[in-house]
Amino acid sequence: TEQTLGQLAEESWNRFDDHDSVFYEGVWHRSHALAERARRMCGGFVEAGIGPGDRVVVMMATSPEVPLIYQALWAAGAVVTPVVFLVGTEELRHILTNSGAAAVVTSPELVDTVRATAVDIPIYVDTAKLERAPEHGRVSRDPADLAALMYTGGTTGTAKGVMLSHRGLWRVAKDAYEMSHQEGKNRALVPVPLSHAYGLIISVAAMHATEPQQAVLMRWFEPKAFLQLAAEQHVQYGTVVPAMLQLLLAEPLESHPLPDLAYLTCGAAPLGREVLEEFERRMPGVQVLEGYGLTETSAVTTFNPPGRRRIGSVGLPLPGYTITIRDGDGEAVEIGDVGEICVSGESLMLGYWGEHEPDPEGTALVGAELHTGDIGCVDDDGYLYIVDRKKDLIIRGGFNVFPRDVEDALNQHPDVVISGVVGRPDPRVGEEVVAFVQLGAGATATAEELIEWARDRVGRVKYPREVRFVDSVPVTSVLKLDRKALRARLG
Ligand code: ATP
Repeated sequence: TEQTLGQLAEESWNRFDDHDSVFYEGVWHRSHALAERARRMCGGFVEAGIGPGDRVVVMMATSPEVPLIYQALWAAGAVVTPVVFLVGTEELRHILTNSGAAAVVTSPELVDTVRATAVDIPIYVDTAKLERAPEHGRVSRDPADLAALMYTGGTTGTAKGVMLSHRGLWRVAKDAYEMSHQEGKNRALVPVPLSHAYGLIISVAAMHATEPQQAVLMRWFEPKAFLQLAAEQHVQYGTVVPAMLQLLLAEPLESHPLPDLAYLTCGAAPLGREVLEEFERRMPGVQVLEGYGLTETSAVTTFNPPGRRRIGSVGLPLPGYTITIRDGDGEAVEIGDVGEICVSGESLMLGYWGEHEPDPEGTALVGAELHTGDIGCVDDDGYLYIVDRKKDLIIRGGFNVFPRDVEDALNQHPDVVISGVVGRPDPRVGEEVVAFVQLGAGATATAEELIEWARDRVGRVKYPREVRFVDSVPVTSVLKLDRKALRARLG
């Protein structure tokens, strides 16, 4: 096959009989009507002069239109540049300028932000105008061509554009679908934003489906709504991030049995083993299948296939990826030893926009290896375990403190909903360990109590010397701890 997303979209539009396909805000949308809208949107883009290689920013909250816009842009030969609806004017301006965007598609509630920023390019406020165009046939592309430009790294510095090829996204989505799909389980609850790499790969994976898919979309995750939707719509699987499981644990799960729910895929941030175990204990019949990845690897690098999962591990590499653990000198370490996780394979990004030129073969990152900045190890059977991120490491008095260990300990306290640990510059010890803690309703734990609790679990070196209570821990669009925002609060 051609391995382009335009072709895949076209195939997916007529693969199955008409069926209920997307549920959003109380309404089921039928698959054939959605496909027709995507074809028309493609015609609309072509008519507007958008074609091969043009970057089009899609800044919208999750809605049934978002996957259709992606499909239409791919069919028109364009490059999808999704932007999380939460970004402010400054970051949006950076993305528009850096990408040289040809147009923006947005929704009415975001148009002011977009208008203030995108001054000299067309702005589509919803898809109605695009959908009035006649249908248009697919514009051909090469599998090595750019399919998506995803901005990432906003929480650690200036966002960089990750260049993902048709071939890479096609392959990762197919592998992820095959590794996770369970026969007859086709109704998904999708609370992760479609504008993040996780949501993008879900959108592509759906086009690979071998059975008719049904997606229940959430505009924004909220634990009560999640449980209610899952029950009412009889969802069979879901796509979550660790913070969602953690927030769900604060709900009376026992009174919300979900007999149809078989599994939840989970990734994007560290998942505490205790969180997984408590969730499965209180939600019998549901398996949490953890995966790991980066935008640079089209969202998924490893996954725990059902039946072969190892709790505590983020799973096995996708067939298209090879993982090597390297020490500080770049040498591969022995099995079981800890080092930097490095990834190679054909589905890797083509490079960073403006920093790398895709090579003529379109083989990712010029045949190189991606140094992920994550620290971990691999066991005898190839399962990967994540220790933490290199850049989050706190060095206190010469000792390495991984914030994740401290957070995992704090999160086990019954009063703690979620915590975030960062290093505060300190003249005496270099960096001091500070924990921001969000308590549950009616919680009574004091800072002293939590400090002692953590000391008992992580020892006398790593425990937080300071605990600050916050109403909510700052998070990104996929509810990832926003450490940049936390550090800014240190004052
Ligand atoms: P930003 O959110 O600022 O754009 P980011 O570096 O978080 O930047 P992503 O590509 O979204 O960008 O996330 C990739 C990172 O997420 C990985 O490098 C890793 O640190 C973390 N991650 C993903 N899955 C897991 C997991 N299962 N366990 C631990 N960490 C994970």
